[in-house]
Amino acid sequence: TLIDSNPDSDLAPLEFAVTRNLAAKSPAQREEILAAPGFGVHFTDHMVDICWSVRGGWHRPRVSPYGPISLDPAAAVLHYGQEIFEGIKAYRHADGSVHTFRPDQNARRLQRSARRLALPELPAPYFIQALTELIAADGAWVPSGEDQSLYLRPFMFAKEAFLGVRPAHKVAFYVIASPAGAYFKGGVQPVSIWLSEDYARAGKGGTGAAKTGGNYAASLLPQSEAYENECDQVVFLDADRNVEELGGMNIVFVHKDGTLVTPQSDSILEGITRDSILQLAVDRGHKVEGRDVSLTEWREGVASGDIVEVFACGTAAVVTPIGLLKGRGFFDEQPTGTLALELRQELTDIQYGRAEDKHGWLLRL
Ligand code: PMP
Repeated sequence: TLIDSNPDSDLAPLEFAVTRNLAAKSPAQREEILAAPGFGVHFTDHMVDICWSVRGGWHRPRVSPYGPISLDPAAAVLHYGQEIFEGIKAYRHADGSVHTFRPDQNARRLQRSARRLALPELPAPYFIQALTELIAADGAWVPSGEDQSLYLRPFMFAKEAFLGVRPAHKVAFYVIASPAGAYFKGGVQPVSIWLSEDYARAGKGGTGAAKTGGNYAASLLPQSEAYENECDQVVFLDADRNVEELGGMNIVFVHKDGTLVTPQSDSILEGITRDSILQLAVDRGHKVEGRDVSLTEWREGVASGDIVEVFACGTAAVVTPIGLLKGRGFFDEQPTGTLALELRQELTDIQYGRAEDKHGWLLRL
């Protein structure tokens, strides 16, 4: 239609007030961190925040020195968990430029999460501007080593000091950044998966499709059960014993006829990596299906040879073959093929600027 229904499109850009960090790491200190960043342990010199209130809407956009946040002990997030977040990476290309991947999708997902958690929806242009401002301040923190990136963590929480249970009238949105090393050192390794039978991650009508802290808090105990059973990750089922997803990754099954099948449910987080990988598979002529996948279909498909590969995908580890499914009283080795790793290579080639970005997924920051 000729009517632009996107309510974000006529927004004026925000004017960020920038306060430089006078105690920023020296280039030598930064390079030392970037040589072996690990994951989620080091943070850049600055952070971005935008306030929201019922009366004032989105206001006071800032770039400030990275540091502790002062919160009232009665801040609603500390009591009722009204919080959401995102995860997205910035990649350095060979020419030195910095790009992020499908940030519009993360912006939209943050809006969906916000709706479910009764938080205000941050307009997508503000989300993208927040990333741009942080990279303008901390672009030197985007590492250039193989498979390295700068992990960006946007998050939003209820900061109003009020103990009544209702949506907070004051909210904060922040973006922080943390350099990330190669997830797998010495090549991608297949992971082993523990089938969680006693714990669910989400229920029908719950918050499973939202990226909210409580979902991750609820995954910690089953994750420690996975470790006790010598597995790397947990897979969750729904109440009808359909496969949902792992604690922080979606799951995809490759069938003998070349069809890729992934669980479709309104209680799983819709991954942007999964969407992108499936698009690349479609580009190669594969059929893709989103539908219920029962545990029985998985186990019988592997036993009969109808399922030829199983992999997990998400921003942090990109694509990871699943080598083993272990549950109480069973131990199913999983077939591993080449498609998962080929799609992984194709995706990372786009992200790091080594291949043509034919879908227009990159945004230069
Ligand atoms: N499921 C869950 C529960 C996750 O936390 C993530 C990571 N955000 C994913 C799936 C994968 O999503 P994405 O590909 O957008 O990182």
